[in-house]
Amino acid sequence: MVIVGAGEAGTAAAIALREAGWRGLIVLIGNETMPPYERPPLSKAILIEEGEPGPKLLIAPARLKELGIDYLQGSDVESIDRMAHTVTLSNGRHLAYERLLLTTGAKPRTLTIPAAAGSRITTLRTYTDALAIRRSIGPQCELVVIGGGFIGLEVAASAVLRGTSVTVIEAGPRLLTRAVPAPIAELIKAKHERSGVRIETGATVERIDVDEGRSKLVLEDGRTHLADLVVVGIGAMPNVELAQAAGLTLENGIALNETLTTSDPDIFAAGDCCSFLHRLYDERIRLEAWRNAQRQGAAAAANMLGANRPYEDVPWFWSDQYDETLQMAGLNHVADTSVCRDLNAKGQLFFYLAPSGRLVAASGFGSLANITKDIRFAEIMIGKRLAPQAEALADPTVSIKSLLALGSSSASMRG
Ligand SMILES: Cc1cc2nc3c(=O)[nH]c(=O)nc-3n(C[C@H](O)[C@H](O)[C@H](O)COP(=O)(O)OP(=O)(O)OC[C@H]3O[C@@H](n4cnc5c(N)ncnc54)[C@H](O)[C@@H]3O)c2cc1C
Repeated sequence: MVIVGAGEAGTAAAIALREAGWRGLIVLIGNETMPPYERPPLSKAILIEEGEPGPKLLIAPARLKELGIDYLQGSDVESIDRMAHTVTLSNGRHLAYERLLLTTGAKPRTLTIPAAAGSRITTLRTYTDALAIRRSIGPQCELVVIGGGFIGLEVAASAVLRGTSVTVIEAGPRLLTRAVPAPIAELIKAKHERSGVRIETGATVERIDVDEGRSKLVLEDGRTHLADLVVVGIGAMPNVELAQAAGLTLENGIALNETLTTSDPDIFAAGDCCSFLHRLYDERIRLEAWRNAQRQGAAAAANMLGANRPYEDVPWFWSDQYDETLQMAGLNHVADTSVCRDLNAKGQLFFYLAPSGRLVAASGFGSLANITKDIRFAEIMIGKRLAPQAEALADPTVSIKSLLALGSSSASMRG
């Protein structure tokens, strides 16, 4: 069993293979020069905590050894020979596989506008990126974040907490356009502004010049911003080059069927690098989310061993913004109705219903204690295809848990 990519999905898969009883070789190949680590803390704790925090490891190196997982650190897989069932590393070594798992993750999108040499522009994907940002931010630094998505906003929150002067520039009409309802995006914007972050929406950076050693961002309307550091958070692209060169089918990432198999029955994929057919929504989706990477990695491992089980986990994502959390379960683009449950100062929950009345998504923003449980109950209802009453969802005196119990015991399930 050979796994390419030692991130969240690859590491979860390696552990799951061993825990499922596979006694043969497991080779986990990663091109980063450290043990597998978590990415979510890179925009949060790693930027904020005192001292210089080390990476949060996914598994201790000693445990990898104990499990008999052969971890090839700092090794790049350059090619796959599907006929010979081998992969070739950049040092020329060939490794044979019986089943291959691709968990190559994603890479940040980079700017395509002109940027003068010497302008300090970075993205955030690795621990090394996070350390470089961490060392630059602070009261002496003026930071401009390009992109008002999750990663950009988390960097902005962490930087302002460290005393940095922060401006976020977003080309779209509002923050978090991709997945978050407008009212929640407004709450998040207000939270940032109260904390001292300047936010400019509908603003496009045309080019970046250098002015006396600092980056000078020139906007389309002619305005300028000076920055000691520019962090670009404009999305990510799946790492598909290896799969593409091997002739595997691609469709918004490495294309998988419901059981996470690629167009080659001996090659599987999981995590940010792939799209898969999701039965709950009857469509192909690609997720960039921590829990999906973990669970999909484990599910792919089971299928590599012949389980042949469709992967049906309800999509779930969280983002920390200061002392509050944003959580989302399911996919809201298939909904035609949204219902708001106002928790007053404690936050807001939104529920999304498909035309059939089925609950397809829920999102919430507020303190962890007030959001987590209800989103969890909503997630179960989504997975069970329940159709709770909109009025009850909107009413804060009706517990979400009771709607789950009611839905499960009645005939309100929808296709
Ligand atoms: C800064 C940041 C904050 C985040 N915060 C959150 C959050 O709050 N909530 C949330 O739900 N999600 C969050 N995410 C997303 C989450 O971390 C990702 O969805 C998850 O890490 C994806 O795991 P993966 O295993 O698919 O890919 P990755 O973790 O990217 O791992 C892929 C690995 O494969 C390696 N690789 C690629 N090609 C090769 C090759 N040819 N040979 C060898 N190795 C290779 C890569 O270098 C990388 O180490 C965040 C991501 C980032 C970057």
